[in-house]
Order: sequence, then structure tokens, then C-alpha cells
Amino acid sequence: QSTKLKPHICLLASPGMGHLIPVVELGKRLVAHHDVQVTVFVVASHDDASNSNVHAVPNNNNLFNAVTLPLANISSLVNPDASLGEKILVLMHKSLPALRSAISAMKFRPTALIVDFFGTEAMDVADEFGLLKYMFIASNAWFLACFIHAPAIDKKLLTDEHFNLEKPMELPGCMPVRFQDSLELFLHPNEPIFDFISSIGMKMSLSDGILVNTWDDLEPKTLGSLRDDNLLGRVCKAPVYAIGPLVRSPDVASPSTKTSPSDSRVIILDWLNEQPSQSVIYVSFGSGGTLSAKQMTELAWSLELSQQRFIWVVRPPVENDVSGSYLTVVDNNSAGKLEDYLPHGFLTRTDKVGLVVPAWAPQAEILAHPSVGGFLSHCGWNSTVESIVNGVPMIAWPLHAEQKMNATMLTEEIGVAFRSKELPTESLVTRQEIEMLVRKIMVDKEGHSSIRVRAMELKYGAQKATSNSGSSYKSLSQVAKQCEKSLQELVTLGQG
Ligand code: UDP
Repeated sequence: QSTKLKPHICLLASPGMGHLIPVVELGKRLVAHHDVQVTVFVVASHDDASNSNVHAVPNNNNLFNAVTLPLANISSLVNPDASLGEKILVLMHKSLPALRSAISAMKFRPTALIVDFFGTEAMDVADEFGLLKYMFIASNAWFLACFIHAPAIDKKLLTDEHFNLEKPMELPGCMPVRFQDSLELFLHPNEPIFDFISSIGMKMSLSDGILVNTWDDLEPKTLGSLRDDNLLGRVCKAPVYAIGPLVRSPDVASPSTKTSPSDSRVIILDWLNEQPSQSVIYVSFGSGGTLSAKQMTELAWSLELSQQRFIWVVRPPVENDVSGSYLTVVDNNSAGKLEDYLPHGFLTRTDKVGLVVPAWAPQAEILAHPSVGGFLSHCGWNSTVESIVNGVPMIAWPLHAEQKMNATMLTEEIGVAFRSKELPTESLVTRQEIEMLVRKIMVDKEGHSSIRVRAMELKYGAQKATSNSGSSYKSLSQVAKQCEKSLQELVTLGQG
């Protein structure tokens, strides 16, 4: 047995499945392919799905450990109406003392700390312990570019041109960001939140590297711009490592029985086994996306009218809050109430062609199933990547965060999605329009074959990137080597 010391890399995951899943996968990949040991710190939340997924992480060897930091009470610190992002930032801030204690209590000193976007502040903790510090972006390079360039953005220009005149926000070397797609955080240049964004951008540039869940072939232009000194000017000089796609491997693909009872998982997969190849459209809005009651009715009718097979993950409607079920406890008892918010008779009429799944479904497995031929998605980046790695074309239905940018990228730059001419957050998308989109992707396959061909090309590109000689494998290997070098230096100094 080898006695060689392995670098110990700690990762900090912010609450929410969209953050936790890729961080856990990153940790697993580091252990499996890059000869390091990993501890994932998970900031607890009231989100049942996240918590149960942590328990699904194998803590069964001494190379991969997950540690849940205690749940911080932030109720007195944030206004209940504060944005989701703000709540997560406060939670992360309140978790710093627990992170500090956990690191100082570790028997095997960590070599590096990798923090995600919401945990940027924890880079200071890495400094306190003299660790290498990396940033992990669970989204794409275009999203990253917004933050890298934020410190150099002229606030007056942003206000006058982007906010007042609704002109696109220019990012050197990247696709400009349309006003309609803009991140909420960039729409208030004169408020403290914008200074905070700039500070994130600055902290990124002081890191030892930025890891991003994308790959060279998916975003060649944007990644090229983030590695081009002439385009970067004075901003971020930290190396950008495209290390994706990070998607859940089957061993943790199904959350615990708490959120997806194993029998419901079996029912879904058995049902899929009986459907013809590429005949099912999967409909889901991520771990917390919600629709209004009217929009749900339109969606239900469109699925019924399209006469296509479907799996729809349904949550109770929420008015005026498209992220209405993030960081909340998943209500498993909602199954009995489906009839209350779906059109009268819908479940009976679609019984033969559709499955309505309350709250949570084993998405990674569903999208990997050969019977699935399309995905109506809110375009969260993990969902997007899961669709791409399975060669499944999409209908883009962005709700919030960076999802509108993702939808634009998928439809206009990458070419694997169709979308409605209306923005679902601004007006009601009618049943006729949704039905047309569903038929475009599921029925008129010949007429729109290019999207399917493109999805397959990207699937193979993704496989290539993570294979042993692929670009993402090499990038992650560079990070691991940097950690190993740092460990060797410490050992030489007698501090390892
Ligand atoms: N997910 C799932 N079942 C569901 C809903 C979501 O397994 O019913 C997983 C999905 O596969 C993805 C993550 O939760 O890995 C959601 O992340 P994403 O970035 O797509 O969206 P977010 O939830 O952060 O908006």
C-alpha cells in the first residue's frame, strides 16, 4: 500500500441542490481520478432534498468525507422578502465560524479550499490557514465573465445604457448580455449589492484559480476571452479551468427515500422502460422553480393537447415568485393535492400517456433514459448540462437567476433548444404556444433534425472532454498537481 501523502482538498457547498450536486461530483472526481482526498463542507438548510442528498454521499472511505455545518438561524438577519441570493449569502456568512472550527479541528491539514460563488467570503478563511484557494462556478463561463468583468464596469455607463436605455451589457470577447436576460444583481449599479458583486470579482482574481462547470468545446469563444490577457485588461488574472461537465453518477442519482420514495423511482423507471425510444418529454423546473396557477393550467393543457408522452415534476403553484420552493421543505404529502391545482380531470385523461410526479424526481436517471426525447427545462445550469450529456434537446423556460442567459446561449449560440417568443416570467405562455414547442421538438423531428444532431455532437464532445486525455480532465489534473506541489513544499518545511 502506498504511503505517499495525498493533498487534502476541502470544498464548501452552499445550500440548494443546484450547488450541492456539482460540488459533490467535483469532490468525487478529484478522489477518483486525481489522487487526492476530499472533505466537502455542506452548509445545512431547510431544504430536505439537499440534506437527503448529502446523506446519499458515500462517507465510506477515508478519501471522501462530507461534513454538514450546523444550520445557522438567519431569520432575524434577513428580511423575509429578501431575494433568494441574499438569503444564501447571509447563511454562508453565518457559517464561517463553523467552517473555521471544522478546519482547525482537522487531523490532516487541508492543502486547498474550493469555495462556490456564494461562499466567496470563505476565501479569507483559506488565507487564515495558509491554504490554496480556488473558486468553483457551478454555472457556465459566460456567467463567470459577468463577475470577472464587474470590477471594471463603468457604473454610469451601465446605468445610462443598460438600465435606462435597455442596451446590451458588453463583455469583452463574449456575447453581450441583453437587458431582458440581465442578472438581477447587475440592474442596481448604484446600490451596495453592486459593490458586493465587484468585490466577488476582485476576490476571484486573487484566487489560485477558477474552476467552472463547462468545457472547452461548449464555450470556446467565451473561455478564450477569459484566457486572453489583451481582452482581460486589468481584470482577473487567475487561471480559468474548464472542468465540466460535472453530472451526478448513478450511485447517488436517486436522493434518499425521504424526497423520492424508492418505489416512485422504480415506478418512473419501469414506466420509461415501456415507452418507445425518444418518445417522452420530461418537464421540470429544477429544485425550486414554481409557476403561477394560470401558467400551470396552460402547461397542463398544452401537454394534453400535444398528445405526447410526458413526465412532469409538479409543485404547488406560487404567485409572483418563480423560485417559490427553494430552500423550503419538500412537501411529500402534496401528492394527494395534485387535483387541486391541475385542470379538472387532467390526471385521468392523461393517465395512459403521462406521469405526474409530485415535488421531486430522479432527474439524472430520467434524462439518461433512452425513452426521453426532449426536456422542457427552467435552464438551471445543472439541468442544462444533464440534458446535454445525454444528447437531449430542450425547450427553454427560464425563470430567474442566470437562467435567461442560459436560455439565450442554448437557443442562439449552442443551438440545442427552442424557446417561446414570450418570456415566461413576464407574460403568460399560452397552451397553443407551448403545444407548438412540444410538437416541434417531439413530433416534427425531421423538420428540426439539426437540433437533435447538435445535441448528439455536444454529448460526444462532453464525453471527450472528461476522458483521460480530454481538456477538462487535463485542467482538473493541473489543479490537483498545484495542490500536490504545495503539499510537498509544506512537507519540506516540516509543516505538512
Ligand atoms: N433535480 C432532481 N430532481 C428534481 C429536480 C431537480 O434530481 O425533481 C436535480 C437536477 O437533476 C439538478 C439539480 O437538482 O442536478 C437542479 O440544479 P439546476 O442547476 O438545474 O437548477 P436549480 O435547482 O439550481 O435552479
